[in-house]
Amino acid sequence: MPAFKAIVIEKGDNGQKVHLTEFDEANLMGGDVTVRVEWSTVNYKDGLAITGKAPVVRRFPMIAGTDFAGTIESSSHPNWNPGDRVILNGWGLGETHLGGYAEKARVKSEWLVRLPARNSARGAMAIGTAGYTAMLAVMALERHGITPRQGPVIVTGAAGGLGSIAVALLSRLGFTVIASTGRATEADYIRSLGAREVLERKELVGAARPLGRERWAGGIDTVGSTTLANVLSMTRYGGAVAACGLAGGMDLPATVPPFILRGVSLIGIDSVMCPIERRWEAWRRLASDIDAGKLAAMTSEIDLSGVIDAARRIIDGQVRGRIVVKIS
Ligand code: NDP
Repeated sequence: MPAFKAIVIEKGDNGQKVHLTEFDEANLMGGDVTVRVEWSTVNYKDGLAITGKAPVVRRFPMIAGTDFAGTIESSSHPNWNPGDRVILNGWGLGETHLGGYAEKARVKSEWLVRLPARNSARGAMAIGTAGYTAMLAVMALERHGITPRQGPVIVTGAAGGLGSIAVALLSRLGFTVIASTGRATEADYIRSLGAREVLERKELVGAARPLGRERWAGGIDTVGSTTLANVLSMTRYGGAVAACGLAGGMDLPATVPPFILRGVSLIGIDSVMCPIERRWEAWRRLASDIDAGKLAAMTSEIDLSGVIDAARRIIDGQVRGRIVVKIS
């Protein structure tokens, strides 16, 4: 029976063990489509899964990797044929279903998004779950009626993957972007993505006042905790904030006044179980709204042998922008 290379997480008596190994094709899980995986990426959640910092993985052994792009090898579904180029994000990949850091994946056809003609598989994974989630957040702000005319928008965790793409997307769409980062050394990088102003992370990490000075019409937050609370307290009347992440903590020590005195909305963004029609729209928008030059400038490349180290670095907040993983 053929085997292929994969990053496998196993559970032992002394915690979990992660290694690059051979995985037997016979042990792939059920699904009506088998994909030759070409590219994957390293997202914060992959870091959580591989380091074991949070209980992301709910089945062992697990092939890590929450997304991939590749080419269909075989399909028993009439809508999908060998040779079709596809993207898969979420739906439990790398959590409950064997994931994307592998040369082969067997998955459910209803999870797949067709690779837009303008994207390469590598380009799609440079965007990856982080970038697709940034697009979902932009779309949520738009649905709320936030436009560039209403004022600036803030992006927190701006040097990270989701943050970098959010800055690039929003500036391309004409927004004035204020970006917050804990890495002063990345200020020029963040400006190069289109941010007009760069705030130091520490300005947003203290306890939030119930109502701060109204500074932005909207926000995309990747950090959570007091950062999100401060962003809310400084959001202008009628504004909206899309909550995407928890890199700074899972708590939300906020107060009610921004909601009831300024009509501010807090919008939750979930990429994993997001309905397929909204995914199609996000990927279609990404194919046109992301600046290819900026995406290339924020992307670095590794292969499967570099994934475990990259997972540790992303959890330590040391990764700038996006990392693509060349699989095969
Ligand atoms: P990255 O690690 O690339 O980005 C996170 C950024 O957050 C870091 O680069 C850093 O930015 C900032 N940060 C890190 N630690 C702290 C801290 N302790 N306090 C304040 N800021 C901190 O990760 P991703 O872009 O892949 O993901 C970002 C977040 O979004 C994660 O929490 C992830 O789980 C979440 N996410 C959620 C999704 C969803 O479906 N809702 C989908 C994808 C991601 P800087 O150095 O600029 O300060």
